[in-house]
Amino acid sequence: MSHTSNKQDKKNLLEVENLKTYYPIKGGFFRKTVGNVKAVDNVSFTIRNGETLGLVGESGCGKSTTGRTILRLLNPTDGKIIFNGQDITTLGGKSLREIRKDIQMVFQDPYATLNPMQMIGNVISEPIMNYTNKSQKALKNEVLELLNKVGLPEDAYYKYAHEFSGGQRQRIGIARALALRPKLIIADEPVSALDVSVQSQVLNLLKELQEEFDLTFLFIAHDLSVIKHMSDRIGVMYLGNIIEIGDKDSVYAEPLHPYTQALISAIPSPDPRKKKERIILQGDVPSPANPPKGCPFHPRCPKAFAECALTKPALKEVKPGHRVACHLYN
Ligand code: SF4
Repeated sequence: MSHTSNKQDKKNLLEVENLKTYYPIKGGFFRKTVGNVKAVDNVSFTIRNGETLGLVGESGCGKSTTGRTILRLLNPTDGKIIFNGQDITTLGGKSLREIRKDIQMVFQDPYATLNPMQMIGNVISEPIMNYTNKSQKALKNEVLELLNKVGLPEDAYYKYAHEFSGGQRQRIGIARALALRPKLIIADEPVSALDVSVQSQVLNLLKELQEEFDLTFLFIAHDLSVIKHMSDRIGVMYLGNIIEIGDKDSVYAEPLHPYTQALISAIPSPDPRKKKERIILQGDVPSPANPPKGCPFHPRCPKAFAECALTKPALKEVKPGHRVACHLYN
């Protein structure tokens, strides 16, 4: 069921403005900063209450760094992060701790983040204990309810991470992320480590929980089919930049940026009789430590022209709600 229409008039839960996250490159005897890896380079977008924005791009494009910066696991170099009307860009200490209740993350590999020595009941109740002083009985009831919501049996409470399959472990990760009833969930490649057969179960679970708990998602993935299944709007990233953003249907039906066109041409068609022509890109993604001048995509772009090597195109609205950074649309 699509619930895009009733989201149109909702307020922005998250506003990201000109966000930059650079990592310093150290060199020389004194380990001086000799350059920067521009992992996120001037990224802006909004997410309305209850919607899912999908961020898609190849590995190293800056989508995970964007997610981690919003959660303030990384400090931004510049720009603003406004969450629920509050500027959280430089929050620290107690105020940041308070905000973290409302923004939770679901990771790619839950096994790496689950303590193998901890009983699952304790794994899920830990965040609740950190923020409230509920009785043991109330805590346990809450965890049992969460297990039920994510489709795990009650006896999972007494088990350990190694006793579960990959899909079940991701359900545990989701239960833990839900424990504090967050407003925003940043899901970073939540199904890419799972067998294809269980991917859609976990994706559908996330959708059901979104409805039930009125969640907003920033959904990060490299797989365009997964992004299409989950998102209301889609942002395409390349070398630390959002190069196209718009409603899912608009971006999939009429991708404007040559990079998005190439990505979408690579999705297998569900109907083998309708063969699409695949656009094969030449070359590799350049290093974000030394991005090309002008349009970041110009060394690989099949449509590049002289201007592209000189000036960086701004993200411009070309159709209502659909923006693209490309000189072809000037
Ligand atoms: Fe290609 Fe030029 Fe558009 Fe960049 S600005 S995507 S190089 S046509």
